[in-house]
Amino acid sequence: MSTITINPAALPDARGHFGTFGGAFIPETLMTAFEELTAAYEQAKADPAFQAELAGLLKDYVGRPTPLYFAERWTERLGGARIYLKREDLLHTGAHKINNALGQILLAKRLGKPRIIAETGAGQHGVATATVAARFGFDCVIYMGEVDMQRQALNVARMRLLGAEVRGVTAGQRTLKEAVNEALRDWVTNVRTTHYILGSALGAHPFPMMVRDFHRIIGVEARRQILEREERLPDLLVACVGGGSNAMGLFHPFLEDAGVRMVGVEAGGHGIKRGEHAARFQGGKLGVLQGTKTWLLADADGQIELTHSVSAGLDYAAVGPEHAYYHEIGRTEYTYATDDEALDAFRDLSQIEGIIPALETAHALAYVKKVAPTMGRDQTIVVNLSGRGDKDVAQAARFLLGEEIKF
Ligand SMILES: *Cc1c(COP(=O)(O)O)cnc(C)c1O
Repeated sequence: MSTITINPAALPDARGHFGTFGGAFIPETLMTAFEELTAAYEQAKADPAFQAELAGLLKDYVGRPTPLYFAERWTERLGGARIYLKREDLLHTGAHKINNALGQILLAKRLGKPRIIAETGAGQHGVATATVAARFGFDCVIYMGEVDMQRQALNVARMRLLGAEVRGVTAGQRTLKEAVNEALRDWVTNVRTTHYILGSALGAHPFPMMVRDFHRIIGVEARRQILEREERLPDLLVACVGGGSNAMGLFHPFLEDAGVRMVGVEAGGHGIKRGEHAARFQGGKLGVLQGTKTWLLADADGQIELTHSVSAGLDYAAVGPEHAYYHEIGRTEYTYATDDEALDAFRDLSQIEGIIPALETAHALAYVKKVAPTMGRDQTIVVNLSGRGDKDVAQAARFLLGEEIKF
């Protein structure tokens, strides 16, 4: 790794490239909207008034900084590295997603666009978007696949209670990819009045950069907090990877610290067999999906493959382009956890630390469970606890308790 020069601040380039990944593959009709958005974001980033408003709301409305919690009992149980949890689960609405939703609604306000649309998988991004739309008095439409609406019924109700309209998507696999397609279709039609709050470090430029920047605070805080606690940097960072926003938010401020290993955990579903998982770095390939060139799951003809995960938030065929880049140069590593391993880790954290994690997060925890015992007691792991498991109670109860709960 010593031969690689890493300059995270220089990425992406002006056209949104992270090495050969990223870019902006967009229809002609959205060109102007993307240019406007990029310009508005660059201005906002440099504007102290924008940064001050964002910082104030992150503190008082969202609940930052989040604690870095030493998981003492789990550490003892695993008998190796000291495990710290970055508690994004304690944020308003229950996951990291609100960092980005808040940043983007402030941009929409600057752009003078009174209508908000978003896609959602597990519903956490939909809830975060519906929340900030309510807070700023914007109209809000959320697109969600009908399969996801069933497995995340609680979040559907939350969005509706917050005043958003939830539109079920019946195309294709009826999950996240189709919801993104519908949101893009809406945007093309209503681009003058509407801002699309994309929910992960995905899609065409400037989204991967912007979403990363809004989540970077996770790593900035974690870096300061671990230095206070341990007086040195962590040995390992772990986060689950759907599109990759919570992972990139944690990893980014540590990329230049060569001694810090970073592992992203993808959804291994029923195992690495075609159509049974969503682990893009296990048998995926280079391709273009929904505006960006990245690592994705496609067959020999380039057709996007079906995906499966117990967690709706990781169930997507492409990974964010910045992850693809750092994977290629060997700075970040990727592994996967199966549904069963994630459920196992879900139960462990609940019963050993009294923290019910999101099923997405449980994938990161499953890897910690494997790796911590192989590390020394003087070593440390920071794992991003990206969200809480309230939304997953019905599903987890079915799998772990054999009980059917209806919301
Ligand atoms: C949406 C979600 C994820 C996956 O999205 P990323 O963009 O990869 O972070 C992970 N954890 C939780 C709790 C989520 O809601």
